[in-house]
Amino acid sequence: MRYADVIVDISLEKLDKTYQYAIPEHLSDTAVVGAKVEVPFGGGNRKLEGFIMDTTDTPVFDPARTKEILSVVPGAVSLERRSISLAYWMKEHFGGTMNEALKTVLPVKQEVRNQKKRTLFLTAGPDAFAAYYETAVKRKYEARIRLLTVLKEKKELEYGEATQNYKVSPATIEAVRRDGIVAIREETVYRNPAKGVQSGEKPCLNEEQQAAVDTVWKEYEEGKRGTYLLFGVTGSGKTEVYLELIERVIREGKQAIMLIPEISLTFQTVRRFYERFGDRVSVLHSRLSSGERYDQYVRAREGEIDVMIGPRSALFTPFEHLGLILMDEEQEGAYKSEGTPKYHARETAEYLAELTGASLLLGSATPSLEAFTKAKNGQYRLLTLTKRAKEAVMPQVEIVDLRQELAEGNRSMFSRRLKEQMQERLDKGQQVMLFLNRRGYAGSVSCRACGEGMKCPHCDISLTFHKGGKLLCHYCGYETEQPKLCPSCGSKYIGKFGTGTQKVEEAVLREFPGTKVLRMDADTTKNKGGHDKIVEAFSKGEAQVLIGTQMIVKGHDFPNVTLVGIIAADLSLYAGDYRAAERTFCLLAQAAGRAGRDKLPGNVVIQTYQPDHYSIVSAAEEDYEGFYAQEMAYRRLLRYPPVSHVLAVLIQSEEEAVARTAAERIAQTLRQEKRQSEGFGTVSGPVPAELAKANDMYRFLIYVKSEDYNRLMEFHKRAAEEKVLTESAMKCNIQFDFNPLGGY
Ligand code: ADP
Ligand code: ZN
Ligand code: ZN
Repeated sequence: MRYADVIVDISLEKLDKTYQYAIPEHLSDTAVVGAKVEVPFGGGNRKLEGFIMDTTDTPVFDPARTKEILSVVPGAVSLERRSISLAYWMKEHFGGTMNEALKTVLPVKQEVRNQKKRTLFLTAGPDAFAAYYETAVKRKYEARIRLLTVLKEKKELEYGEATQNYKVSPATIEAVRRDGIVAIREETVYRNPAKGVQSGEKPCLNEEQQAAVDTVWKEYEEGKRGTYLLFGVTGSGKTEVYLELIERVIREGKQAIMLIPEISLTFQTVRRFYERFGDRVSVLHSRLSSGERYDQYVRAREGEIDVMIGPRSALFTPFEHLGLILMDEEQEGAYKSEGTPKYHARETAEYLAELTGASLLLGSATPSLEAFTKAKNGQYRLLTLTKRAKEAVMPQVEIVDLRQELAEGNRSMFSRRLKEQMQERLDKGQQVMLFLNRRGYAGSVSCRACGEGMKCPHCDISLTFHKGGKLLCHYCGYETEQPKLCPSCGSKYIGKFGTGTQKVEEAVLREFPGTKVLRMDADTTKNKGGHDKIVEAFSKGEAQVLIGTQMIVKGHDFPNVTLVGIIAADLSLYAGDYRAAERTFCLLAQAAGRAGRDKLPGNVVIQTYQPDHYSIVSAAEEDYEGFYAQEMAYRRLLRYPPVSHVLAVLIQSEEEAVARTAAERIAQTLRQEKRQSEGFGTVSGPVPAELAKANDMYRFLIYVKSEDYNRLMEFHKRAAEEKVLTESAMKCNIQFDFNPLGGY
């Protein structure tokens, strides 16, 4: 008899271990490691699904009492051994249960056979249609009216779109079809987005690009695998380096994964890969249906493609001969998962590369402090591209002091300098981008006269506004009254401040009546394809001004944009977490890179209340090293990552008292653990989170800091145990975040 160790599909810490089941004779061929099976679970023998982690001949319990596996789930996608190792590593390093980790590494769950695309189209003539429509209106058939209205306009509609977006039930569609008004066309889709893309010309690499390729390739051919950081300004030709290396890896019979942050995953970006590799490339993105996703998965597993492009989940592409993983814009926050396990794709890619014998190439114009530090330490090989590949004039960047504007009586959102320049561009028919980096400012308090933000004296992090007029530090719990006058300069212009894209739009229309404006923010891009539509409209010149949040600074080339205005550069500096300066620097550097991308020279105006802040000055001067030095000094002083590691424990409950009790209990346990282990860093909290209540849950935070990641993992174990041992903790939702990227 053989036995299988199974992880059942329940994400509870308490049950986070394998359970042994006997493999009945008739399943001996299919119930193998990685298979999805059905098992009877617990006293009531509830039927649950699970994955086989291991098989053995030696039972751990009395064989007579060991239950049997019921069946192997038909059509389920099974896990490869490699995925199981990866899942285990992810759970250990980033928290959560094995079940959650397994679900993460298995990007598709089920075989999707039906790959038919069904499209509705009109068959009735105009008169019949009109009569039918009228009847529907008369009888108030709302769903029918919705369906007919879109069909009249678009002529065709995907079946899924009709049911999901327009909420027309299949029964209604069937009725309309029977009445002879619409018909359904079915096609088997095997989407190949590469169709029709001409193979592109391959530029001759310049000296720096060639040197980067040679370094990686020489080691690759010698059988050495490593991690490389390709550090090159925007437009320096990093993508050409990726393409060249991928081509060589493919020539060796290997495969490559190209990670790109979802937001930059536009057709413009992907096209160059199609041009080079044709239909050997596949793209993974969030708009794919489960069928399309399954398709990709199978093609990769069968070796029908060589390159998978996609966001962080593309890491889990089941290539059998992975040779190279590439990660563009490695500093992007989107590489960190928000679900559990909260893994970071960079570290996960490093481990995956090790597991598969692949090399890893990270690329960035503004590397994360983590990556650049490792490159400096020699853990990564640093490859540098210092100049733009194409002849392009560097934009002229100027910093405008908003304190001065205020002092001289200008209370408008635009400084005189920005207004003047905008006028000039509009007169010339050129385009302007206005950038608002509004993330994270929500509750912070600062002074418009001197630019000082209110900060925690212990953590040097922006304090945020809380109910009852108190200012609170979300790292250590320090609390103070909101001052009436600025503690630095005595001005009364202290308070919460911030603005939205809509307000910027209103201001533009007020100052420059009649201007055509497009806005790109969470609101205007909510709908499918909203983002692409705005980009397209703006590149066609349908508007003169594009206003937007971080979304506008990524990757797009608008040759006619000659002015970029940054409305309030320091908004992102006031975010209540230690990465505020790093984010600000990145955003400004990227935003500045948008101006004058082509033959027309470009200008950038950075408006700020803190014109001397190093993140702003360095961004304006394109001085990454300068920024790095200053920011590392700050991180070193306060022992923030990458100098040290941080574990955030978020404890949530609908009952405030329960959450508080559990949080205090966990903090106590962690402090005990700390006393037991010498030199163990710090435990702070619990404190209410910046978002003290969300979705009706009260939220408390504990932060643990340690220079040793392994110690932090032990800590995580202790805290997770509480979830099993302590009554109050059992009632809470507890999440763990290793080296969080933002505040909570
Ligand atoms: P990055 O990825 O660093 O932003 P890209 O690879 O997109 O840079 O290159 C920027 C532009 O320069 C692209 O239009 C690209 O085609 C062009 N380019 C890159 N390398 C070369 C080269 N060696 N010769 C000519 N043009 C190049
Ligand atoms: Zn002040
Ligand atoms: Zn503090």
